[in-house]
Amino acid sequence: MAEVGNLIAVSSCKGGVGKSTLAAALALALAARGRAVGLLDLDVHGPSLPTLFGLGQVPVENEGQNLVPYQHAGISLFSFGLLAGGNPAVLRGPMLAGVVRQLLCNVAWGKLDDLVLDLPPGTGDVHLTVSQIVGLDGAVIVSTNHALARPDVENGLLMFSQVAVPVLGLIENMAWFECGSCGAKHEVFGGSAAKQVQERFGLRCLARLPLLSGAACAPAELAARGELKVMAEAVLEALAETRDHTLLPEAVLGPARLELHWPDSTLGVIEFKALRRHCRCAECEDARRRGVYDETALPAEPVAVELHWLGNYALSVRWQDGHRSGIYPLTLLRELAAYGKACRCRHEDGNVNATPRN
Ligand SMILES: [Zn+2]
Ligand SMILES: [Zn+2]
Repeated sequence: MAEVGNLIAVSSCKGGVGKSTLAAALALALAARGRAVGLLDLDVHGPSLPTLFGLGQVPVENEGQNLVPYQHAGISLFSFGLLAGGNPAVLRGPMLAGVVRQLLCNVAWGKLDDLVLDLPPGTGDVHLTVSQIVGLDGAVIVSTNHALARPDVENGLLMFSQVAVPVLGLIENMAWFECGSCGAKHEVFGGSAAKQVQERFGLRCLARLPLLSGAACAPAELAARGELKVMAEAVLEALAETRDHTLLPEAVLGPARLELHWPDSTLGVIEFKALRRHCRCAECEDARRRGVYDETALPAEPVAVELHWLGNYALSVRWQDGHRSGIYPLTLLRELAAYGKACRCRHEDGNVNATPRN
């Protein structure tokens, strides 16, 4: 692992969103920029790399204690599927951790600019095991617009924040299709999720990809698309940004308020009450959508007890009453921070934004 520049995880909150294909296409798109790239399929529940690249059952070669990766289409690749043979056993606990460790530490990649890890869907054992063994430089989340509305996305973001892995952005897959008869672009789920993700989590959308079928879905075909070239560049940009810690304020829990000490030495203050009222987690948003969000039912004196930065884009807040799924993008924090301005939303008892700084 010592000779790998960027360790990039590709993850999704649920299956069937095209994660493995996109992980492969991302690896190819990075390689097309002249980078040395590896792809490791850690999807222990359904390794797909051998199928994606039509490898069939190739023998695994060893080099001393190490496994030799396959050279294919200009990248080095290895899959849990190659190790497990045709029918991978269901592995759990220590067995699973052992295999993941072997794949992470005992594949002779040589010198790589980027190693793309295809993680299983969800937030399971593999994610934790990986983050215990290696330091991931960033994670890319693949989703469909449809899947974004679910709390799974938050769970994924919060999981990565707990293991201190910056999320680089989101790929919205199967977002549109080109109509065979009229040639127009049609939205699949009725609108872009990118804007919603930007607003709710401050996450950038790395790519918005169409619904494809047949040969157009193959990683090589996909990697040749303009969107993938832009995406590879956006991933590298986001990686550079996560290493720049001059963009974030220092967040401090004060008495009944959150204090943001910005690098330009200005102070932003948000009262806990205002912060809690502007929680945009799936639970709160859903209640607002259904018209049953009741501000009067919130704790009268909410107390924030724990803060975590999610990469360079948002702050997650855990509250004393157990509410913990709130993710506050920097843009929202800036808006809420008291520079004498009230927030733009309509609250039942008028605006209760933070007090002006003094
Ligand atoms: Zn909430
Ligand atoms: Zn408001």
